[in-house]
Amino acid sequence: MPSLNNTKKILIVGAGFAGATIARILAEKGFLIDVIDRRDHIAGNAYDYKHESGITVHKYGPHIFHTSNQRVIKFLSKFTEWIPYEHKVKAKLHDGNLVTLPPNKETLKILGKENIIDILFRPYTKKMWGLDIEELDPSIIKRIPIRDDLNELYFPSDTFQNMPKMGYTALIKNMLDHDAISISLKTSFGKSMESQYEKVFNSMPIDEYYGYEFGELPYRSIKFHNELVKEKKVYPVSQVNFTDDNIFTRVVEWKNFPNHGKNDSQTLLTFEEPCSYKENNMERYYPVKDIKGDNRKLYKKYTKINNKKKYFHWEMRAVCLC
Ligand SMILES: Cc1cc2nc3c(=O)[nH]c(=O)nc-3n(C[C@H](O)[C@H](O)[C@H](O)COP(=O)(O)OP(=O)(O)OC[C@H]3O[C@@H](n4cnc5c(N)ncnc54)[C@H](O)[C@@H]3O)c2cc1C
Repeated sequence: MPSLNNTKKILIVGAGFAGATIARILAEKGFLIDVIDRRDHIAGNAYDYKHESGITVHKYGPHIFHTSNQRVIKFLSKFTEWIPYEHKVKAKLHDGNLVTLPPNKETLKILGKENIIDILFRPYTKKMWGLDIEELDPSIIKRIPIRDDLNELYFPSDTFQNMPKMGYTALIKNMLDHDAISISLKTSFGKSMESQYEKVFNSMPIDEYYGYEFGELPYRSIKFHNELVKEKKVYPVSQVNFTDDNIFTRVVEWKNFPNHGKNDSQTLLTFEEPCSYKENNMERYYPVKDIKGDNRKLYKKYTKINNKKKYFHWEMRAVCLC
């Protein structure tokens, strides 16, 4: 387990959930913390903000909080109140009708079990990953349960399903609100920073940190297209996936999340267009799990580089527990 000498400062790269968690835990243990982030806001990919329509949007796609981990709930509850929300997703068929995802008894009755993959997953997968289903790690498809009841919940087994009442940005702002933590936004990590710190906790992409010396880790990205519609509400749930071959995988209707703003004359929809991260300002969202496992092997190769002063995600947990 890593040991730290709390007379020296700690650098944390990234003000997302990982960076904010480690910053808070170490600040409470008496360390002085500098947090940097190259974006102009905190909260990482969970960042949310109020759109001009008064509706709250998650800039990098919808973030649904669900867990059964009591330690996580206890820790985060120090920084937020919660508001109940159970996620439900529908898939829009060619005739415009909506069916429940993951498929339940009713979905199976409408589509027929033998058609589930071809209708609900094949076109979506091709758009999402730029690959055919057969080229992806089978664990991705196996993760999708097919139910023989009428349950409509996307996460049926998690005991805690709530959203932070005032949003994710407010939650992370509260986590970082400590006298021992200072935050610098629009500040990119440079290796020359390391010599000024006792330890560095880094949530930047690991291949980028090592100058891509073994090659680039493949990721997919998403372009988000907001559309303000002059209707009170369009969809019955917050997320609707498309089954056709238009460029979008899914649409999010923000008003369907609790406490996301009131606007009786308009609703805000965000359409998601997957793409390569190189087409989207190097924004890396989803690691690509290929069937041969080559990407995982490449990732493991980076994690094996011996690095005494710096910790990446998988090592942060050990420090939080010490
Ligand atoms: C579209 C989408 C939807 C998601 N939905 C869910 C969901 O519903 N539920 C869920 O639990 N999880 C969801 N996730 C995953 C969730 O976003 C992550 O698990 C979580 O945000 C990870 O937090 P993090 O701090 O590790 O990384 P991030 O949130 O990515 O934060 C890392 C930060 O590091 C900064 N950074 C990177 N490189 C540098 C550098 N060189 N210098 C300075 N700063 C740098 C970045 O700007 C970023 O702010 C989703 C992810 C995406 C992309």
